[in-house]
Amino acid sequence: MEKLILTEVEVEAICEKLAHEMDKQMDKDESNLPILLGIMNGALPFMYQLVKSIKHPNQIDTMQVSSYNGTASTGELIIKKKPERNLEGKDVYIIEDIIDTGLTMHLLRKYIMDTYHPRHLYVVIMIKRQVEKPHFQEVADFTGIVLEEQRYIVGYGFDYHGIGRCLPYVFVPSEDDFDKWDAILEKDNPDYKSGRKK
Ligand code: 5GP
Repeated sequence: MEKLILTEVEVEAICEKLAHEMDKQMDKDESNLPILLGIMNGALPFMYQLVKSIKHPNQIDTMQVSSYNGTASTGELIIKKKPERNLEGKDVYIIEDIIDTGLTMHLLRKYIMDTYHPRHLYVVIMIKRQVEKPHFQEVADFTGIVLEEQRYIVGYGFDYHGIGRCLPYVFVPSEDDFDKWDAILEKDNPDYKSGRKK
């Protein structure tokens, strides 16, 4: 590990704080059955921890998306899995791991509003990365922490080619960590190419 970003205890405290804020919002909105929409796979550990502290009755659903950045200012949302519940007229909370450039959230928010017409759409993120000149000024309604660290992070949902998601803390991996994971991935799939610059 190069640098520890969040311990397990810190992530739990963040989730408790966010759950409390969300509960207050749900009460204020007189939400009937709000839907917590986890964005797979990255947000799954975060959502699991979060829902343990939310007291207001709610339902869980999931979506899987990725974003493709065509140019600096346009992008395309690729929907890999749609929500199963009817979101129309509902209070929906998107649960996402991070806002980095803001592209994914920019596209996702618009897609959900245009396609499903929820009554309210809130964004809940564990981490907002501080980007000097973001292409998209995406602001979450509920933010765990603002992160200045610009290097790639792993753990608590954040992965490296699928590895590391289940680790209970968030960290900047060392070169040794990446080398070790590349070796595992190469062994698993001979066609694997890390694409990492050395
Ligand atoms: P965006 O740049 O569109 O805001 O971020 C899109 C996605 O990139 C995030 O949902 C997350 O899955 C991924 N991402 C951004 N920064 C990191 C990082 O430091 N580590 C990992 N593992 N994924 C990241």
